[in-house]
Amino acid sequence: MSPRKAKPKGKGKRDITHDDERELSTSNESIEEHDDGIFVVRKISGSTSNKPYRCPGCDQVIPMATPHTVAWLEHDQSGRRHWHNICWSKRNLRKPKVERTRSAPRY
Ligand SMILES: [Zn+2]
Repeated sequence: MSPRKAKPKGKGKRDITHDDERELSTSNESIEEHDDGIFVVRKISGSTSNKPYRCPGCDQVIPMATPHTVAWLEHDQSGRRHWHNICWSKRNLRKPKVERTRSAPRY
C-alpha cells in the first residue's frame, strides 16, 4: 500500500520525497531506451494492481488484478502510464512515424 499524497508543493524544485523512492525501489524495475527518451519500466504483478487503468497503447481498460507494465520517462515520474504488457512491447517494436522532435529545432 502506498498512500498517494497530493503532489508536494513546489514544482521546478527537485526534491524527491523518500516516499516516492521507497515506492519505486523495487527489483522489478528496469530502464529502457526509446526514441523518445529513457523510460523506467516497472512490471506490476496482478496482486498489486488494485484498480483499473486505461492503457494508452490500445485505449482499453486494464482490469484490476491484471499484471501489466508501468512506464514513465525517467525525469517525469508523474507522467507514468499503465500499459498492457503486450501493448508496451508492441510499442517498443513499432517505430512511430510521428514527427520526432529532435533536440535541434528546424527552421
Ligand atoms: Zn493495451
